[in-house]
Amino acid sequence: MTHHAGHHDTPVQHDTPDRHDPRRGGPARVKVAVHGGRCQHYGICQQEAPEVFALRSPTRLTYDTTPAAQDTAAVHQAARLCPAQAITVDPA
Ligand code: SF4
Repeated sequence: MTHHAGHHDTPVQHDTPDRHDPRRGGPARVKVAVHGGRCQHYGICQQEAPEVFALRSPTRLTYDTTPAAQDTAAVHQAARLCPAQAITVDPA
């Protein structure tokens, strides 16, 4: 007698939202500036937007001043969460 363990072969459908934005460009691009004197190098910004911020050493943060539009939301999030309020985001 063959024993069948409960096994479901149903493929999991991952619904990838295909962003077809009729408006060209999608999210607006922004300019980023970090106030060097304020930054305490916590690295929160890098966690939120790793494409934009990079903590190269405990005392050195580098960042993209003109990130891609797809990173705009992450940049705003990083600015909100920066404990030192060191990140300025302006319209590009
Ligand atoms: S989160 Fe703010 S304080 Fe921390 S590294 Fe980024 S800019 Fe600096």
